[in-house]
Amino acid sequence: MKKDHDSHLNEDQLIQALVDSTAVPHSVQRHLAACPRCQAEQHRLEAALTRLGHMAKALSPSPTRSISLSVNHSPRRLWQKALVAALAAAVLVLFVSYGPVRREVQLAALNQEMDRDEQFLMEVTALSEDPLPEFWQAMALISDVGFDNAFMDFLVPSSREDVVSKNKEDAPC
Ligand SMILES: [Zn+2]
Repeated sequence: MKKDHDSHLNEDQLIQALVDSTAVPHSVQRHLAACPRCQAEQHRLEAALTRLGHMAKALSPSPTRSISLSVNHSPRRLWQKALVAALAAAVLVLFVSYGPVRREVQLAALNQEMDRDEQFLMEVTALSEDPLPEFWQAMALISDVGFDNAFMDFLVPSSREDVVSKNKEDAPC
């Protein structure tokens, strides 16, 4: 025991014992429990550290917004967090389920447009193969059968040039 009293604990050991007494070796714990001098030194260190803590607290700028860790409201906070999580999940589900639906709608619109294009292309092809619609084809047939150039001249008035030349013929020179 005398040997222990001869070699007192140093500052690091005292602080370590102050922070966590179980973290220091058993010999140090035993010495501290038995040695009034080391106990006094530890109390002095503790007071100094407490003063330092108070000074640091006094000198540090106060936060602009107060931080509140309300343990009392934890059930309510938990409830709010659960609600937020549920809402987020619902939104996620909506997005996930709405995605394919929207894609289907887009696909349907695209298919419709493609059908319209195809129909239009078929009409164009039909016209390129047979440019005269049915009604005009019938008219063409009739004109081939019954109407000759004389009838067409009667139907469509002759051009001005013809009229002038006709007048010249008729006029006495
Ligand atoms: Zn000691």
